[in-house]
Amino acid sequence: MTNTLFDALMEMNKETDRDFLILPDGGSLSYRQIYDLSGQMANELETLGVKPGDRVAVQVEKSPSALALYLATLRIGAVFLPLNTAYTASEIAYFIGDATPTLVICDPAREVLRDQFMAQAATLRTMGPDGQGSFMDAAQAQPVEHQPVDRDGNDLAAILYTSGTTGRSKGAMLSHDNLLSNARTLVDAWRFTSDDVLLHALPIFHTHGLFVASNVIMLSSGAMIWLPKFDAAQIVGLLPKATTMMGVPTFYTRLLDRPDFTAELVDRMRLFTSGSAPLLAETHRAFQDRTGHRILERYGMTETNMNTSNPYDGDRRAGTVGPPLPGVELRVTSEGVEVPQGQIGMIEVRGANVFQGYWQMPEKTAEELAVDGWFTTGDLGLIDDDGYVTIVGRGKDLIISGGFNIYPKEVELLIDDMPGVLESAVIGVPHPDFGEGVVAVIARAKDVEPNPEGIIAELAAKLAKFKQPKKIIVIDELPRNTMGKVQKAALRTEYGNLFT
Ligand code: ATP
Ligand code: MG
Repeated sequence: MTNTLFDALMEMNKETDRDFLILPDGGSLSYRQIYDLSGQMANELETLGVKPGDRVAVQVEKSPSALALYLATLRIGAVFLPLNTAYTASEIAYFIGDATPTLVICDPAREVLRDQFMAQAATLRTMGPDGQGSFMDAAQAQPVEHQPVDRDGNDLAAILYTSGTTGRSKGAMLSHDNLLSNARTLVDAWRFTSDDVLLHALPIFHTHGLFVASNVIMLSSGAMIWLPKFDAAQIVGLLPKATTMMGVPTFYTRLLDRPDFTAELVDRMRLFTSGSAPLLAETHRAFQDRTGHRILERYGMTETNMNTSNPYDGDRRAGTVGPPLPGVELRVTSEGVEVPQGQIGMIEVRGANVFQGYWQMPEKTAEELAVDGWFTTGDLGLIDDDGYVTIVGRGKDLIISGGFNIYPKEVELLIDDMPGVLESAVIGVPHPDFGEGVVAVIARAKDVEPNPEGIIAELAAKLAKFKQPKKIIVIDELPRNTMGKVQKAALRTEYGNLFT
């Protein structure tokens, strides 16, 4: 009897009393405790009628119980479907209608809204920030013994909705093998061992916190300092107790904003990784200057887990996401044909990490996932002579003005270096003459006010006319989602009428 992913994550750990989750209040939970809790929860899930292959939709705050629930779902052979805690009841209604889960577990505070999101006949139970609620109450009365249900590598382990940065979120179907193969690759590539203590401040409704971080730690029998959310002051206090941290770029900029974030704090740390959104080369350099550490940037997505990574040993290059990981093939194409090395095109990937398709979207799946296994990521990039990949931006953010292609990143990198600019987002909005007109949205720096005329003049000297912004807008902060992704679609809507 085997359950591919669950066994790999838990079999070797289940009887150990070493710390698995270390909590900010000083408490901790051992592997054995979480394993036993997952057994009780697995029994309760089965009591509630959840069968192998059924979806369990979960919108709960991050807690040790929430992680045990992920394991329990795998354990009974069901499909884990976590949802962003920021989603409103009407957004949740879409996901529930789409995924038709047998069971929905939500925060106790959300229960009163059930009529707004429970579109179909599913059972509803609750789980709060401390794990409390109707699901836990019932699970606690269950025995810990539970025989994991057989699941092979091709069976679905999870449906994870994409972040919805470029359109409506799509449910990526991930098999046991998809998740396990990638976690194994990362343990190896990033040298995780049972000595590691990972500072875990990411949400667990997203691939980064759930699969990249949690699966990697369980596979290596390490421990995690399990934080409900990222709080820079708290991280500063906990860094001396950790060996590794996985973060999104905003974690690093917020740490750098603090004068008490110093090299001494990170004495024990051996690795900082970054992903989910581009890390500015400037942040990379500032972090190295402050701490001596070169952040290891990697590139992945919900549909594929991780595709590329800067090397553990060797040159970690700012502004690149490193070469493809072992077992992942990556090519750059234009209209399906590979472009010469160094040229920008669409990034495609293939490997055991690539998902099984979009849930209930056969046409979209056929468009993006070819029968020979190549997946069109939607990201534009290039591979340099050393095999390092640079992400230039999203296909959907490419601007076409007067028939010419403009890669926003090229313009953003120039603007970001100018005085008064914290960061920038260059977008295309409808323009009566050019199809799209280039607009630069700039977040002002704290100390100096940016000078739009000066910026335009400086760009005029550096960029071809068609790439130059026709308008500069200065704001306090770029809109970001919980993973630190800049919401360019929202900016396009907001400034959509500038030229029309
Ligand atoms: P949707 O697919 O719904 O529009 P999304 O693509 O933002 O949303 P995710 O799967 O969470 O959803 O994010 C994956 C994307 O994040 C990648 O396709 C890429 O654009 C971006 N990304 C991830 N890591 C990096 C990185 N290191 N540098 C630049 N972009 C990155
Ligand atoms: Mg995407």
